[in-house]
Amino acid sequence: MARGHRAAARHVQGEEQHVICESCRKEIVPDRMFCIWCEAFVPDHRAGRRAGFVRRFFATLIDPALLTIVFFVAESVAREWYPTPPGLPPDIFDNRPDIIAGIAALAYGGLVLVLLFRGQTPGKWILGERVVVLRTGKPVGFWRMALRESIGKTLSGIFFGLGYLWALWDRDSQAWNDKIAGTLVLHYRGAEEKKEVIASGPAPQGAAPEAQGE
Ligand SMILES: [Zn+2]
Repeated sequence: MARGHRAAARHVQGEEQHVICESCRKEIVPDRMFCIWCEAFVPDHRAGRRAGFVRRFFATLIDPALLTIVFFVAESVAREWYPTPPGLPPDIFDNRPDIIAGIAALAYGGLVLVLLFRGQTPGKWILGERVVVLRTGKPVGFWRMALRESIGKTLSGIFFGLGYLWALWDRDSQAWNDKIAGTLVLHYRGAEEKKEVIASGPAPQGAAPEAQGE
């Protein structure tokens, strides 16, 4: 049984079990990771909500695009400011801009590594997304994230991107790379503001008294 299901199931009324979303207080479908009404992450609604397909699509595009931009900007800047001096042996100095661009790409790789430890890529970081462990919402850790981003994304892309499109109809919005790594993608930015809007609204019926003080 999902941890989140247990957490939400404390709002039990009468004989029937109504699993109530802790964010919008509406009834949710058991064993789903996201509320069908407000799309909050059921195990911990403060962690975020379902990351939409378009947002995820752009995050996936940003990653290779940023690497390309970093490389070519560094190379063109190097050509401008650190050109190959005339008369020097070309085998050593001819590719100075390429070396500098390579160093810039390595620095970018370092940023990617740091972000992977946080369950993010540059694209996800920019668009406010985070990869978490399915059901618990805990941080994925480096190796699970590395598995997702390498083997997982390779498999997702093999059949004309079918594995990515899978997130469109999967009930927990899992792409194949999520299935392989046992992960979910949360859109965490703005989750706090959304919570405040909900909290300032009228209290819906059916909310348990213990939940009012959040
Ligand atoms: Zn909800």
